[in-house]
Amino acid sequence: MAVVSTLPPIERRCKAIIFDLDDTLVPTSAIDKGAVAAAASLAASLDPTAVASAGGEEELIERFRALLKAEPFPPAVEDGPGGSATPVSVACWRTTLWARSIWPATSPSTAPPALPPSASDPTAEVVRCILLANGGAEGERGGDGTVAEDKVAWAKRVHDTWCEGRLSSFRFPAPVAGLVRELRGAGYALAVLTNGHSDVQRPKLAACGAADLFESQDRLVVAGDFPAMKPDPGVFLAAAAAAGVGVGDAIMVGDSLRCDVGGGNAAGCLATVWVKSCPSLAPPEPEQQQQQQQQQQQQGGGGGGGEGGGAAAAAAVAPATSFWDGAGDDQQTPTYSIDSVLDLWSVLRQLA
Ligand SMILES: [Mg+2]
Repeated sequence: MAVVSTLPPIERRCKAIIFDLDDTLVPTSAIDKGAVAAAASLAASLDPTAVASAGGEEELIERFRALLKAEPFPPAVEDGPGGSATPVSVACWRTTLWARSIWPATSPSTAPPALPPSASDPTAEVVRCILLANGGAEGERGGDGTVAEDKVAWAKRVHDTWCEGRLSSFRFPAPVAGLVRELRGAGYALAVLTNGHSDVQRPKLAACGAADLFESQDRLVVAGDFPAMKPDPGVFLAAAAAAGVGVGDAIMVGDSLRCDVGGGNAAGCLATVWVKSCPSLAPPEPEQQQQQQQQQQQQGGGGGGGEGGGAAAAAAVAPATSFWDGAGDDQQTPTYSIDSVLDLWSVLRQLA
């Protein structure tokens, strides 16, 4: 005879989990490192003289990274008199950043490049970068006052190599994909909340198949589509709504103390979880795998979607203390901190 419980179902406090993408679910920095190195190596093979005279490949990489950070897409575009701001494609903009890195301006007083009148193609701007790199020297110009076409093509090839390299490797590490499936199976509503412009973040989300893993494109929230990005509370409310819950029923999981933890706290998330590192794409060595399995067993599982486990689970969760985020001045306190997202079950058991 079947036993029917008259007890109400146990209400779970945490109903939804909002994940940051870059360096939380996907090791973006590590992937990008390889792609930038491949692009710099190509630049050095195409124009060895320019790259060597400007300090070599490492210096080129440093210059590119500094520009990418200082001048993210979309660039600040000044509205012309009576006209609308020039639309600039992400490929165009970033090709000019590569051109400025390969052929850096010799004069420190050189003004940053203006955007070309038609910014769907970076040719004009790349030409200007090369001329600036030579202080406007006639040596770079042909008889008709133009720059050799091959250099324009080189800049585009270097950009495309970087872009293709980062997107072709952009995927969820297998254990992370496994965790997301377990959480889905356990009934948690899931969403992704990522900072950045749509033209930058959507190709990354597509490359890693995030819509399939999270079961819907609607669960993927790109903060660049909103008036303000993380840590602005508005995008956390949107991500919680995408998961079908109020923000107070959701936890925020991310690697940025300022954006993910600070924003999640300000928005009123049930809890914020700071992840200290991102799982690597490389499969773990057999010995490392064995250690991880032992650790999971000691923590009470994590596999199979179960939420059981005991007091030992707390071992992987650091007590709430304050941290300083290198990216900002704000001191932010996560509710929990864990080594990587793979330790999330330990937090969920505490929140149950
Ligand atoms: Mg991140």
